[in-house]
Amino acid sequence: MLRIKFSSLFQSYVEKQIAFQAENYAEATGERLVLQLKSLVGISAGLSANMYNIDRMLSTLEDPNGEFYYGVMALNDKIVYSGGDHDIRFADFKGFSESFHGAKYISYCKGKGLLFSVPVYSGKNIKYVLFRLFKEEFIIKNFGVVSYGGKGYAVLRDSKDEIIIDSDNEALGKSLLWGKRGYQAVREKLASGLNVSIASAANLEVDGVEYYYFVADLKLPGVVLTGVVPAEVVASEKDDISFLIIWVFGLLIFMFSIAMIYVVVSEKKARENKELLREKENAESASKAKSIFLANMSHEIRTPINGILGMDSMLLKECKDESLRDYALNIQSAGQTLLSLVNDILDISKIESGKMEILPVTYSVFNVLNDCYNMVAIRAKDKNLELVMDISPEIPAALFGDEVRIRQIINNLLSNAVKYTNEGTVTLSVWTEKVDVDPMQGNNGNQVELFIHVKDTGIGIREKDVGKLFRDFVRLDEKRNRNIEGTGLGLNLTKQLVDMMGGFISVDSVYGEGSTFKVHLMQQVSDEKPLGDFYKLYKQQVNVMDAAHEKFIAPDARVLLADDMQMNLKVFAGLLKDTKIQIDTAINGAEALKLIEKNHYDVVFLDHMMPVMDGIEAFRQMRQLAKSPNTNTPVVMLTANAVVDAKNQYMDEGFSDYIAKPIREEVLLSCLKKFLPKELVKSVAKNSAVESANAENEKPAVQSSTKLSDFLDEATGLAYCMNDQKFYKEMLGEYVSADKTEELMEAFSKEDFEYYRITVHAVKSTSLTIGAIKVSEDAKALEMACKEGDFDFVKKNHEAFIQKYTALIRLLRTEFC
Ligand code: ADP
Repeated sequence: MLRIKFSSLFQSYVEKQIAFQAENYAEATGERLVLQLKSLVGISAGLSANMYNIDRMLSTLEDPNGEFYYGVMALNDKIVYSGGDHDIRFADFKGFSESFHGAKYISYCKGKGLLFSVPVYSGKNIKYVLFRLFKEEFIIKNFGVVSYGGKGYAVLRDSKDEIIIDSDNEALGKSLLWGKRGYQAVREKLASGLNVSIASAANLEVDGVEYYYFVADLKLPGVVLTGVVPAEVVASEKDDISFLIIWVFGLLIFMFSIAMIYVVVSEKKARENKELLREKENAESASKAKSIFLANMSHEIRTPINGILGMDSMLLKECKDESLRDYALNIQSAGQTLLSLVNDILDISKIESGKMEILPVTYSVFNVLNDCYNMVAIRAKDKNLELVMDISPEIPAALFGDEVRIRQIINNLLSNAVKYTNEGTVTLSVWTEKVDVDPMQGNNGNQVELFIHVKDTGIGIREKDVGKLFRDFVRLDEKRNRNIEGTGLGLNLTKQLVDMMGGFISVDSVYGEGSTFKVHLMQQVSDEKPLGDFYKLYKQQVNVMDAAHEKFIAPDARVLLADDMQMNLKVFAGLLKDTKIQIDTAINGAEALKLIEKNHYDVVFLDHMMPVMDGIEAFRQMRQLAKSPNTNTPVVMLTANAVVDAKNQYMDEGFSDYIAKPIREEVLLSCLKKFLPKELVKSVAKNSAVESANAENEKPAVQSSTKLSDFLDEATGLAYCMNDQKFYKEMLGEYVSADKTEELMEAFSKEDFEYYRITVHAVKSTSLTIGAIKVSEDAKALEMACKEGDFDFVKKNHEAFIQKYTALIRLLRTEFC
């Protein structure tokens, strides 16, 4: 089809080319003919001017080759002059009559030749016709059209279709093309072509041979050029060209197809990408929604846990029954685990939902390390692990960074180290190195690299597992660690926090020998003063804390607490019961405001999240009150938002302090001590019972490094004695006189563990009754060991217990007996 289409396209192209060629032939031939006429016109003018010298003038012009000659004909068919044949008649050539009518004309007469004729004027009248007659045999030579290098056939015809100039291409000329079937159609096509242009061409197949016919008008009126040329002459390259065209076209189609395929494929890809993108977006938004949900859930879960822990701490405070206290302690420890788990989840979901921010503040390095130490020390001691704080004294005392996060990182690593170590040592090494000043990195020379290494002698991590360690929620060695509580959240969170702070975390571990987790962070220096000896600072601080924890009463002080949870209100009141402080409560910010407008408070405690009006809003409105008895009252924020950023936010808001829930008694008391007016606070000696006993007996105080207060919890003891001081004193006397040291020693030396058990059981009960809790607990442990047949434990701990027990007896004896 393509070929056919091409053929026809090509045909019309060729036809156009042939018509154009015919036009050129016609023009060239026409020029030659017109030239003849023009020269005749010139001669005619000469003749007109000199009618009497015709003979002379023309005879000088005659062609020496004899191809043509001149003649002059008068109107009466009389030859006035002739350079050749005199037998030329007026009727032989149409040119005579035309020229007598004023025309310049070319006419042909078979056998006589080709005649060019022009009029000769005498004044305004035509007197003669001047002609130049080319003899028959010289016509083609002078005027024949040589077409297509002689391979074509072209003739000039007059208006009667008579040939006036023939072609010498005899073969074609003699062929019977003209008048063949189909020629009529060609003629018509040629004629119609001539109507719109001065030349046209058409194609016709005759006897299986393809020809192109052509026709072109000459400038001379009535003369046309007609001709024919075999198609093979003009279109020998047609097949080649059409093949080329098809080839090129094919190539184009091929390229086009490739382009289309590319377009389709890339469109498909784009669509797939778009879908992938959409899916990714969906997944991301789903994950974000999940994170937000988790964050909200964690928040909601934390509130009741805080309540439970608060209530439980009340139980611990008030309950004297040993086994109930045990339960309460278990609740406390499980609750704390749950709380830290929920906090981890909250943090991870915060990071995932992009809500976690690093909030740098100036922090005391000692405070951070001290708190981390305290957090883990008890657990380490319970497992009989040595906890070593290898803290460089050169560390700047205060750094600038995200304190909350750094605490979290150290706590996580330390508690893991304790968790995954059964014996030996956990060492926290912390040091800093100065960073060289490098203005290129925007470093003003006030930065240090902070190194935190947590080393343990624990179970270690297999080499193949090290890579997985920081990945999402991975727990390793599940079989071996199945008894160890954990979620795999900790290290993932730790890594994310370190990453957020632009730091590095890595681990070196030998399976079965222990691990070292290494964290490396950049921190700004806030106070260059070196930290100094950690243990020395620690001891100083413990002494200060002890002083701060001394109990007090403030019966004239009045505080307000706003919290929407009834349980929290109860816990708060319970914790402050002994202080005798007056407590007003409100269940939301709006209620609190009403009370604040009315009454003066020494301290106001506001919970953050409350219905109707939250703590922050209540605080803002309180500060805007025009007239208030509480213009200068310190306001403390209570919040479960222990995890984060909260502290800075509250302090920026203008709160005086912030207490995290669950509220710890010592924190609440030291906060009150800080803010209550000094004149309202009355100190209460811790061992008042002992003191009053002293006063009664007027005995000098013992000069001993161990104090009675190290052994006795007066409150517990008094509670067992119905808070009757006298009765308590009697009980103490009883205790001393029932000294079981000798019996215990004897039973131990005889390895009579049944007797030992009975004796130590008695010590357990009586010790608890007087408030010697530690001795009672140790006795209980020995009793249990005897019961379970763990005599090694008894052997290991007997000596230490006896020392403690006798020391207590000695002290009591000196003081009371
Ligand atoms: P988990 O709550 O299970 O302790 P972590 O993310 O804190 O979660 O730790 C992930 C896993 O890495 C742990 O389950 C444990 O197998 C391993 N691991 C972490 N710290 C130590 C360590 N100090 N010694 C040995 N293994 C550890």
